[in-house]
Amino acid sequence: MNRDTVQILGYGVDSFSFDEAVDYICNMRGQVVTINPEMIDCASKNSEFADIINNAELVIPDGIGVEIGLKILGHKVRRIAGIEFGRALLERFSAEGKKIALVGAKPDVIELAVKNLKSEITGINIVYYHDGYFKDDEKILSEVQNSLPDLVLVALGSPKQEFFINELKKKLPDAVMVGLGGSFDVWAGVVERAPKIYQKLGLEWLYRTVKEPKRFKRIFPTLPLFVLKVIKERILN
Ligand code: UDP
Repeated sequence: MNRDTVQILGYGVDSFSFDEAVDYICNMRGQVVTINPEMIDCASKNSEFADIINNAELVIPDGIGVEIGLKILGHKVRRIAGIEFGRALLERFSAEGKKIALVGAKPDVIELAVKNLKSEITGINIVYYHDGYFKDDEKILSEVQNSLPDLVLVALGSPKQEFFINELKKKLPDAVMVGLGGSFDVWAGVVERAPKIYQKLGLEWLYRTVKEPKRFKRIFPTLPLFVLKVIKERILN
């Protein structure tokens, strides 16, 4: 299977379906970015971050913003929720007897997430985990490297997790590494996902913002400005 990317505001996004992306990741190595409008906005102000996205081995559209943006540009690509995707990867890698490392979230949260995942996923082999509030990056990078995982899930928030993976990639050239935002909090059971109806309508962001109003600042004005930029791109091309 070859990559088939579409462009949005200068970034290539893979057009795989959910199942295709899971299959693809099982046979790839390198960095997977789960991209959203806030990340595209951040990359427009941080060229190092933009390079990381451009050099990633896979970029999947996480969230309704990128799906809408791609639709405006005439591409029919379905969003892939990072959290469901991460879960599917854990199940697939575990079924194949592969080794997993997890880095991120608060200390009690990662403990709980690991406990839950161990009881929920048959055969899961977590060879390393660490919370995401460390000072010495080099130490954690080396520890992950020494545990020789096949799959590393990193949940430090963006862009921190993408920078961390970019460094890890140099140490673990054969592993696949995915940045997953707040997924560990959900797996630990400390944060609830939005009800199915919100997920279906692409309004998970609205539910999360109402529950956690400080997120408002992250979405506005970024999301409407992102849509305006995409419309401009559509008109100019
Ligand atoms: N986090 C972390 N280290 C940090 C900052 C954040 O491990 O220095 C964790 C945080 O505890 C949460 C996750 O990163 O579990 C993602 O946070 P956020 O909700 O900001 O990410 P999003 O899902 O919105 O990308």
